[in-house]
Amino acid sequence: MPQEKQAGMVVLTEVGRLREVVAAARGQGKRIGLVPTMGALHEGHLSLVRASKAECGLSVVSIYVNPTQFGPSEDLDRYPRNLESDLDQLRGCGAEVAFVPSNQTMYPEGCSTWVEPGEVAGPWEGECRPGHFRGVATVVLKLLNMVQPDVAYFGQKDYQQARVVRKMVDDLNVPVAIHTCPTVREPDGLAMSSRNRYLDSDARQKALVLWRSLCVARETAARGERDAATIVARMRKTILAAEGASIDYAALADPETLAPVVRVDHPAVALVAVNIDGTRLIDNLVIAPP
Ligand code: AMP
Repeated sequence: MPQEKQAGMVVLTEVGRLREVVAAARGQGKRIGLVPTMGALHEGHLSLVRASKAECGLSVVSIYVNPTQFGPSEDLDRYPRNLESDLDQLRGCGAEVAFVPSNQTMYPEGCSTWVEPGEVAGPWEGECRPGHFRGVATVVLKLLNMVQPDVAYFGQKDYQQARVVRKMVDDLNVPVAIHTCPTVREPDGLAMSSRNRYLDSDARQKALVLWRSLCVARETAARGERDAATIVARMRKTILAAEGASIDYAALADPETLAPVVRVDHPAVALVAVNIDGTRLIDNLVIAPP
């Protein structure tokens, strides 16, 4: 794709040019923000771009469907891609740079070094999607090295991913601040996700059980229930009320380590991954005892 300049936003595909644009902005004393995405942008993504715009003089948004974080039987081939609409939305938000690398740019032939995240990547998504966080950590570190931002923005929607990224940055002394932004939801509570595009109207309705189950967890804990198994049982019942819903996991975990908790004596994160008519959705909510 040719490099183009459109209405104030530059669309870049090569690392060399990206580094020049970032260096010029840094030379003007600007803070650099990075928002990594896989495109098919929605308000959740745009909230991260706005957070970056509020804090940084140059906001780089990467759009790259990273093949190494998809398992062999996952939805890489059919993952929604709509570059023109994505670029329009980014222009609307005032992003300065869209970075849209090719597979060849991200993983040139012979590329053979990986980031292997530790324990925080073990349970939940780590168990259901072997190799997923290795792919995520690797591509995020590569993007951080390409852009060298002051701040990188991630969504709470992918709670475990944000933890994995923070831990990687701490463990590997990457000089960047990680900001985690709240989950943006539809008015009825469904967390915005590119994969919501897979849902027909029936599945869209059923998908509300994820948010409902998290609210049940929050309310049950707020009423004083401390036993995690009891709370999780109520979450599962709420999810399984949707015909055809199948649970990958419904759990309460430590907000830092993501290890399962037995009692909710401190804040915990409620995590759910549910298949609705063939679409796998995840959501989470931090809950606390009264
Ligand atoms: P993705 O394109 O799905 O890889 O997401 C790119 C970034 O947007 C990740 O940091 C996500 O956590 C974040 N994100 C996705 N959906 C939402 C949402 N509904 N609210 C806030 N952030 C989100």
